[in-house]
Amino acid sequence: MCKQMRLRNITGSDETIKNSKYVVTNPTEYKGKWNEIFGNENPVQIEIGMGKGQFIMELADRNPNINYIGMEKYSSVLLRALQKMEQKEVPNLRFLCEDAKLLKEYFAEGELDQIYLNFSDPWPKDRHAKRRLPSKEFLALYDHILRKDGKIEFKTDNRLLFDFAVEQLALTKWSAEKLTYDLHHDQEMVEGNIMTEYEEKFSSKGNPICKYIISRTK
Ligand code: SAH
Repeated sequence: MCKQMRLRNITGSDETIKNSKYVVTNPTEYKGKWNEIFGNENPVQIEIGMGKGQFIMELADRNPNINYIGMEKYSSVLLRALQKMEQKEVPNLRFLCEDAKLLKEYFAEGELDQIYLNFSDPWPKDRHAKRRLPSKEFLALYDHILRKDGKIEFKTDNRLLFDFAVEQLALTKWSAEKLTYDLHHDQEMVEGNIMTEYEEKFSSKGNPICKYIISRTK
């Protein structure tokens, strides 16, 4: 393999990402001062595991007075979002090619205004439960970086993952303000809904979409 393959990978996505003005490649240096990146004092919201970015790009476009960060672990996936951004720049959006487990290194206490999790990886094996983005371990991380009255929104078609996510709440400070097992038929919750790539794919197969909005109201 591997020299050639690795080289191709580097010139393909890693290098592009390193050189892109839309990607923050040194996020630890901005801990506590993300507003410097955006050049204003507007609130900052994040999608963790954004994939190709359809949701966060539309959300940012609709809300120019909020700043957004799209976080995606894999450069090959993030590249798709970058390509879209080059076609149509969204000024209040930046990307991070990082792993969510390091969130505390990138954001100060209470620095974020809202967190979105969409179609997070299910990690079906019990011993991998901690890796699930709505796990109690991740909820503790979010508790640190999200402002006190901040909310987390989570959508998935994976009923097992959603049931797990709901069960986890009882073990944490978080509780559900709103919850549905069929978002697209819930008149109130579907209002203003922005479809993600996975949501389009799985709902077109007939899968109902589950969603909760949680906060620390206990
Ligand atoms: N939100 C998109 C993609 C869902 S797939 C959509 O709804 O269409 C889940 C994505 O989360 C994948 O792209 C995966 O690489 C990313 N991801 C999983 N774990 C992550 C982590 N710990 N940190 C950052 N991204 C992660």
